Amino acid sequence: MIRSAASPETPTAGPTGAARPSRAVWWAAVAAAVVVIIVVAAVINGAGGAPAPVGQTIASSTTWEPPLDRAERLVTDILTRRSSAVLKGDEQAWLADVDPGDPEVLALERVRFRNWQQLRPVKFDLLYNSASPLTLPPSGQPSGAVVSRHTVHLVMQMEADVALNRADYTYTVALTGDAARVVDVAHLSHDSPDADRKRFGDPVFDAPWDTVPLRSARQGSVTVLAPENSRWDPAAYVGAAARAETFVRSLWAQRRAPGGFVILLADDREFIQWFGYGRTESAEGVAGYINCAEISAANGTPKDVILGDDSKAGCRAVLRMSTVRNDHEAYTLMVHELAHAIGPYLMTDVYFGGDREWLNKPTWAIEGFAEWAENLAGGDAEIRQGTDLVKRHWAKYRPSESDLAIPLPLNQDFFTTDATRNTFNYELSATFFRAVEQTGGRQKAVDLYVKLATSSELVTDTRLFLDPVIREHGIDPDRLWQTHQDVIG
Ligand SMILES: [Zn+2]
Repeated sequence: MIRSAASPETPTAGPTGAARPSRAVWWAAVAAAVVVIIVVAAVINGAGGAPAPVGQTIASSTTWEPPLDRAERLVTDILTRRSSAVLKGDEQAWLADVDPGDPEVLALERVRFRNWQQLRPVKFDLLYNSASPLTLPPSGQPSGAVVSRHTVHLVMQMEADVALNRADYTYTVALTGDAARVVDVAHLSHDSPDADRKRFGDPVFDAPWDTVPLRSARQGSVTVLAPENSRWDPAAYVGAAARAETFVRSLWAQRRAPGGFVILLADDREFIQWFGYGRTESAEGVAGYINCAEISAANGTPKDVILGDDSKAGCRAVLRMSTVRNDHEAYTLMVHELAHAIGPYLMTDVYFGGDREWLNKPTWAIEGFAEWAENLAGGDAEIRQGTDLVKRHWAKYRPSESDLAIPLPLNQDFFTTDATRNTFNYELSATFFRAVEQTGGRQKAVDLYVKLATSSELVTDTRLFLDPVIREHGIDPDRLWQTHQDVIG
């Protein structure tokens, strides 16, 4: 880069006292940075902000590099080095650009590096996004340092993803001369207003790997993780996880699936905190959930979501361990969540709440499939338990009936504050896939799930629309509904 034209500023001894040829340029840069900061501050504050600069003379040359440009260039170099460090598993290289004088930042960056290694990223790309100047260096930085803040997109694909997804960070960087040091890395939490969420979906935020050191155990291609100080040891659950993976993969057969799975063991607090789950959902009576990251373009922009199109890159299963009493329960709960996670590209949701929710996928198909898989894995006794529960509560909770309406719960009635009714809705939805299994076999049940999960509720809640879909799959609808009647009757 060109930096030959020195400014007329008087060189002054810097923090180290060492005279260097670039000193004059350096101080011109500082002067320019001050002007930039004042101007930006005035714009941000509007009227009544900082006073306009008076009598400032910037270097006469036009070839010097503005400080934020220089910061961008140096930060971009840092990001390139760090991205490659993660993929190579080189912790020293990852930490090399972090301020060695700040043990806290170093420790957190070490935690993140080690967590990501356990998540087995196949792509990891830190991308420069934008900069904003800071008026004051954070404490502990030399007074001559120019400190700036930069938004960075992390575009990554874990082993458990089928596409790229994104997380955002703010890098605070101190520049002294041509040396750049990362003095802080903050994960940006997105607390989107509802309007934004409808447009962009939920970004990944408050992921445990950004906040706490994790330990893991791995078997097959499933990784079980928990915080290092958790009372639940991943090694004690990895056997059940591997069996759950084997079961779900054999059910899924050759259909498109992620190369691996991530299962996180959470206590009650972590369960609602991670991924911001508690902000959007009630955790009352919930034993597990999946968090599915949005698909990102390679440059970090969100993928445009078109109804019925792929929108989720991959799903992480979170288990509420206080609800898990033994190995068998861990196994069936994992089967349920992995049945969701194996087809992340089917998890498209466009509207949340309100009267347009019928544009979303039918909840009965999503939950019914996972519950059916869970019962299958649980064995005959659990299958019978599910259908018995439906029979027992049919009179009280059965869906409203009309000539064409299907005997399955609608989206708006699915999740309720009545815990028994919730269980009834799950088990009733599972009986649809049970009936398909009995009529056309397990693979037909999976085929129908894939089809229904990408349709909107609007075209699945009456026999008028649903029967042709069933017929397309080679199943006689009358026979299917009769079988369904026999299962629940
Ligand atoms: Zn579920």
